[in-house]
Amino acid sequence: MLDTREIFDGFNEGFACWTPERRLVQANAAFLHMMGLKTGTPFSAIDDAGALSFAFSEISDALMQQVEAQGVISNFECRLPHAADPLRWIKADVRRIPDADGKTRYYVAYLTDITSLKFKEAELSHLAFFDSLTGLPNRSLFINKVGAALHAAKRYPEQYAVISLDMDALYNINQHYGRDFGDMLLRHTAATLVACCRETDTVGRTGSDEFSVLLRDPEGGPGLIRIIKRIRAKFETPFTVWDKQLGAISAHFGVIFPLSEYNHAESVLRDVGLATSMAKTTGNSLSCKFFSKKMMEKTRKELSLAVVLQKKHDLKGFSVVYQPIMRPADSGLYAFEALARWSHQGKAVSPSIFIPIAEKTGFIKSLGQFVLETACRQLRRWRNEYGTDICMHINVSPHQLVAHDFPDSVRDTLYRTGIEGAQLFFEVTESIFLRDFAKALHNINRLRQQGVRFCLDDFGTGYSSLSYLKLLPLDALKIDRSFVQDLEKDAISRVLLRHIITLGTDLGYTLVVEGVERQTQLALLGDIDRLLIQGFYFYKPLGSYAADALMGEEYGEAISRRE
Ligand code: C2E
Ligand code: CA
Ligand code: CA
Repeated sequence: MLDTREIFDGFNEGFACWTPERRLVQANAAFLHMMGLKTGTPFSAIDDAGALSFAFSEISDALMQQVEAQGVISNFECRLPHAADPLRWIKADVRRIPDADGKTRYYVAYLTDITSLKFKEAELSHLAFFDSLTGLPNRSLFINKVGAALHAAKRYPEQYAVISLDMDALYNINQHYGRDFGDMLLRHTAATLVACCRETDTVGRTGSDEFSVLLRDPEGGPGLIRIIKRIRAKFETPFTVWDKQLGAISAHFGVIFPLSEYNHAESVLRDVGLATSMAKTTGNSLSCKFFSKKMMEKTRKELSLAVVLQKKHDLKGFSVVYQPIMRPADSGLYAFEALARWSHQGKAVSPSIFIPIAEKTGFIKSLGQFVLETACRQLRRWRNEYGTDICMHINVSPHQLVAHDFPDSVRDTLYRTGIEGAQLFFEVTESIFLRDFAKALHNINRLRQQGVRFCLDDFGTGYSSLSYLKLLPLDALKIDRSFVQDLEKDAISRVLLRHIITLGTDLGYTLVVEGVERQTQLALLGDIDRLLIQGFYFYKPLGSYAADALMGEEYGEAISRRE
C-alpha cells in the first residue's frame, strides 16, 4: 500500500491543514520548505503552534481573518518574510472546514511558490518602464510621474516644471561615427542630466533622441532658470567619448512652468514638445523656449495650413515676386531674387510660416519647382523683350538639394524655358550641413557643370565657421540682415561686418549684403563699391509687373538708344 504522506510530499505545491488555534494537523514537505522549516523535521515535532515559523504565523493571521469572513479565498498572493529567502512569494487557496455546529474546525491551504513568476513580472515591468540603454524611466513611466505630479499639485502647494530636450544632431552622429558611438553619447547625456538634478526630480528618456526632466519645486522662475543654465553649461563643456573629443552636446530645450493648468500628463508632454520644436526653429544650438498660449495658437494655425498644403497639388494661390539686388556704386540693377508668395483664403501667409511647413510636408519639392519654372519663364520674357540676360537668385531648400533627381529636373527646366544655367544663382543655407551633406555636394557639383552658381544665404547666422566655406564650392556670400539691423547702434556689429566683408572679398567671393533699409546703414558699410546690396532701401520684393517696369527703366532706354 502506498503511504498518502509520500504522495503529498512528492508535490511541488504545499498542502497544509491547521486548527483555529494554529496547530498544524497536516503539512507536506513542500509546505514546510516554503515556510522555512526543515523538511526532515518529523511532523510530530512541529505539530504545535509555537513550532510554526514566524512566516506562517504572520500569513496565517491574514489568511484566517479573510477566510473567516468569506469562507474561502483563492489566489491570495503574498510575500513571505522568510529569513533565508526574504523575496519568496506564494499564492494561496484557503478554505474553512466547519464542524457540525458551523464553527471552524480546520483551515486547509494549497500554496504555490510563485517567486520566479514574480521575478519575471518585475523584469518585464522594468523593461516596460525603463530605457535599457540609459536605465532612465522611459516615456510611459515619465508620463506616469508627470500624472502623479499633476495630482499632487492639486492637493499641495507644490509647483512642478517640465524641461524637454531634443538632440537633433544624434542622427548625424549615428551616421558619421556609428550607432555605438551615438549610444555612448546618449548615456553621457543621461548621466549629465541626472547630475544636474536633485533626487526629487525625475529624468526620463522620452524618445529616441529626447530626454525630459520633471522638476519638483524648482523654487520659482529664477530657480528654474538656474537649473536650465546649469544644464546648458554642462552641455557646453567639451567631453570625450572613446578617444573622440566632442565640443558640446547639441540640443534644443522646451520648458513648461508651472503645470497648474494641466489635467493630463500627455498634454504636458505634447506642449513641451511643441516648445522644443519652436526652439529648434531658431537655428541656435542650446536655444530654449518656454511654452505659451500664443505659441499654441501659432502652431494650431500652422497645422491647419499644413493640412491645406498637403492637400494641394495645383499650386493655386502661389506666385513669385522679385526683389532687386543692386550695385550701389551706380545704383544699377545687378540681379533679382525670386521669392515665393502664398495667398490663402484671401490673406497673404508669410514665407517664414509656409516654407518650413512645406519642408516638413514634402510640398517644398513642387513649390521649389514652381518657383524655378516661373522665374526662368520671366527671365526668358525679359530676354525676348530687352535682349538682355540678367541673373536670378533662387532659394533652394536642403530638401530639394539632396533629392537625386534635382540636377536633372533643373536641366529639363532650363532646356524647356531656354535659359542658361549661368543666369542662375542658387541660394543655400548652412543648414545643408545638417542634412546628407555628401548628397548635397554631389548635386551642387552636377549643377555647377550646368553653369549654375551658388550663394550661401544668411551667412553668419548658422555655424559661422569659416572652415565650412572650404567644403562648399561657392561663388557668393549673402551676409545676413541681422548684421545690418544693429549697424547704427552697435559698434561690434560694425567691426564684425567690416571684417566679414574684407575676408569675403579676400577669399574671392561676390558679396551681397541683405536687409539694408536706410541710407545711414548703407553709409556704415564702408567701401560699398565692392558690394551688392539687397534691401528695402532700394526696393521691396516686386510683383512681376513692377519688376517688368524696372527692367524697362534699366534696359528699355538702351534698346531705344540702340534703335
Ligand atoms: P531669405 O532668402 O533670406 O529672403 C530674404 C527675405 O528678407 C525676404 O523675406 C525679403 O522680403 C526680406 N527682405 C529683403 N530686404 C529686406 C529689408 O530691407 N528689410 C527687411 N526687414 N526684410 C527684407 P520673405 O520673402 O518673407 O522670405 C522669407 C524667407 O522665406 C526667405 O529668406 C527664404 O528663406 C524663404 N523663402 C522665400 N521664398 C522661397 C522659395 O521660393 N524657396 C525656398 N526654399 N525658400 C523661400
Ligand atoms: Ca535668400
Ligand atoms: Ca537671407
